[in-house]
Amino acid sequence: MQGFEKFYRKNWAERLEVLRKTQTLSEKQIEQLKTNAVTPEVGETQIENFITQYQLPEGLGLNFVIDGKEYLLPMVTEEPSVIAGASHGAAIVKKAGGFTTASRQRAMRGQVILENVQEPTKLAAQIAQQADSLLQIAAKAHPSIVKRGGGPLELAVRKLAEDLLSVDLIIDTKEAMGANMINTMLEAVAEKLRSEWHLDVLMAILSNYTTECLVSATCRIPVAQLAKNGIQGEQIAQKITQASRVAQLDPYRAATHNKGIMNGVDAAVLASGNDWRAIEAAVHAYAARDGQYRGLSSWQVAGQDLVGELTIPLPVGSVGGSIGVVPLLAVNSALRQERGASALQKMLVSVGLAQNLAALYALVTDGIQKGHMSLQMKSLAAGVGAAGPEVDQVVSALKQLPRNQQNESSARKILAEI
Ligand code: NDP
Repeated sequence: MQGFEKFYRKNWAERLEVLRKTQTLSEKQIEQLKTNAVTPEVGETQIENFITQYQLPEGLGLNFVIDGKEYLLPMVTEEPSVIAGASHGAAIVKKAGGFTTASRQRAMRGQVILENVQEPTKLAAQIAQQADSLLQIAAKAHPSIVKRGGGPLELAVRKLAEDLLSVDLIIDTKEAMGANMINTMLEAVAEKLRSEWHLDVLMAILSNYTTECLVSATCRIPVAQLAKNGIQGEQIAQKITQASRVAQLDPYRAATHNKGIMNGVDAAVLASGNDWRAIEAAVHAYAARDGQYRGLSSWQVAGQDLVGELTIPLPVGSVGGSIGVVPLLAVNSALRQERGASALQKMLVSVGLAQNLAALYALVTDGIQKGHMSLQMKSLAAGVGAAGPEVDQVVSALKQLPRNQQNESSARKILAEI
């Protein structure tokens, strides 16, 4: 676009000047970009073509009792009801003793993809025989992670087609998510296979399907605790079980079921500075692991209890990427009261299960809109320009109206009258 030549080479002030000179934005709009850029020196180091910082609201998830200890959970989201739902789900579980979490392993996977392969079975066996020396090459490419007690653990070869092999490395990245260190190690292995084995390497990159990074949360709630509006707890528990069954059977329902789980997980991942796209990719791939996309959680009645379980891959780190760069992330880590990637994983899987419980509980009793609407009305009020005490005034006037009139034009009319 004219005027935007070499935009990436300019500094922040120069980029805003381009927007002014090309009349892309008005003075007022440019001022808005400046106001939103609270720490431009940080933003400029994070991404390319930086113009401002986009803000999202952050709130605290409450009532998270996990493995016997209560935590505060910072969550970043623009969606009303998410933090309320998570805190409500967590409160139900807290009353029943809290979440129990478990993880078997915390490792990542990378792939060197070989193409134009002749005799794939024979080549796979030859590469597997040299696993130790290839793992050593990987370790030498990033020795600092080995010093930290991590590094490459295993090598396995998978046949993808008659002409394609995937050489997989399982790597312990310690406290990091590890994308960059994994890619460095994979490229060293790829170079060896290319130059000395004379193989055609198509690519070398980590896999976001992190099946060596699974974390589980379970909870056990006495069914009597779920009784609501004169409906017996047992009946509600049965309906939650049925909802969980539908999410196993129907991908249309499963996508929504899992979106609800990820409402909480994504918000807590964002507040931790981790790569939420990586988490989304891992989780949804895992949801389709047997060939059909299914709900990630399961709910069953066992004796007098409703038992919930969620297992998801959570490739998060406590260092790396933006984590050491954005000052707010250190504050969020302090709020979580516990450092370390494993602790974060436990909180993330628990918030997913709490969010899922809150959504299913609402869906099989009041329906989702009842709880949502009062928060949506706040957004409606703010959206038409209500500020300060006007927001509550508009919301309470909207609540007096029939459901089908609780909309933007009514909010506008009420605000004008105020
Ligand atoms: P970094 O490249 O920032 O690497 C992590 C750093 O943390 C290393 O340099 C390591 O130092 C240091 N470190 C300090 N303490 C520890 C410790 N206890 N354990 C481990 N490392 C430690 O980040 P990652 O490699 O984790 O990569 C994550 C980033 O990569 C994210 O921003 C992500 O968005 C991005 N990314 C994601 C991709 C994907 O998901 N497909 C692809 C490419 C990038 P030292 O080197 O000295 O060991």
